[in-house]
Amino acid sequence: MKHKEIVLISGKGGTGKTSMTASLIPYFPKLVIADCDVDAPDLDILLEPKILQKEDFIATAKAVIDSSKCINCGNCINVCRFNALSPGDNTPVVKEVYCEGCNACSLVCSSDAISIAPYKTGEIFDSVTEFGPMIHARLTPGEEVSGRLVSEVRKRGKKKAEETNAEVMLIDGPPGIACNVISSITGANLAIIVTEPTTSGLHDLIRVHDTAKKLKVPTAVIINKDGLSSEYSNKIVSYTETQGIILLGRIPLSNKILDSINNKKIPSINAKDFFISNGWELIINNINKMIYSS
Ligand code: SF4
Ligand code: SF4
Repeated sequence: MKHKEIVLISGKGGTGKTSMTASLIPYFPKLVIADCDVDAPDLDILLEPKILQKEDFIATAKAVIDSSKCINCGNCINVCRFNALSPGDNTPVVKEVYCEGCNACSLVCSSDAISIAPYKTGEIFDSVTEFGPMIHARLTPGEEVSGRLVSEVRKRGKKKAEETNAEVMLIDGPPGIACNVISSITGANLAIIVTEPTTSGLHDLIRVHDTAKKLKVPTAVIINKDGLSSEYSNKIVSYTETQGIILLGRIPLSNKILDSINNKKIPSINAKDFFISNGWELIINNINKMIYSS
């Protein structure tokens, strides 16, 4: 049986997306976990996976200067339109963060001192947790190619799901609406938008919902931190009604979730009574109904 893919997203950071993802994990016994929040992964801090395999992720190339050949003529500095080269004592210095690997500097170097070499932009991990396999990654700080890394995490997650006959791949998606979000939700069976009742929560819910709609990904909403503002909770409810989005549930603002995360515990296990009394099992039932009807 082909597995179903559930991805949790949020238009903004800080809504509790990872807490909600973690809280779903125990309810899907045959799953693969994929952490696509590669810019700031933190599901691994909570789950403490055992890393089975680690690989460098190469998605770009950068200029490398051979100082033994360089005559410090400065031609490369003049041609670089990304300001990725600055004068140095014996040879120009490559500022890797700015280098686009365009090769222009190499073409003007009469000393053949510049090569364009593959550059590590992140690491990707094949791991196992007490709840099942986990594929996760970490983007090198300063790099901006997370869409490709996210896509790789999903690809490996799918493969792992097939190998292990998993029923569900649960994806912790990145915040925002950039290319990394598109990579994480395209083709998913369900995108659960975790929002909070604030001005920015509502604004970003609308933006991320528009993105999912364009990609024809079925969506549902969880309001986290309910009680923060009844005005904005009402506005979010009204938005879901007018847009025909299923509101899976409302999880009240509570220290129990924060305490669980701080103690590296899955909130829905550590604060089970709190989750059950706030309709968590109904949320799970409705998620199952949605993924098995799509
Ligand atoms: S163009 Fe070549 S020789 Fe001239 S400074 Fe650059 S690396 Fe050195
Ligand atoms: S490869 Fe392109 S961006 Fe990088 S240093 Fe050379 S000219 Fe600049």
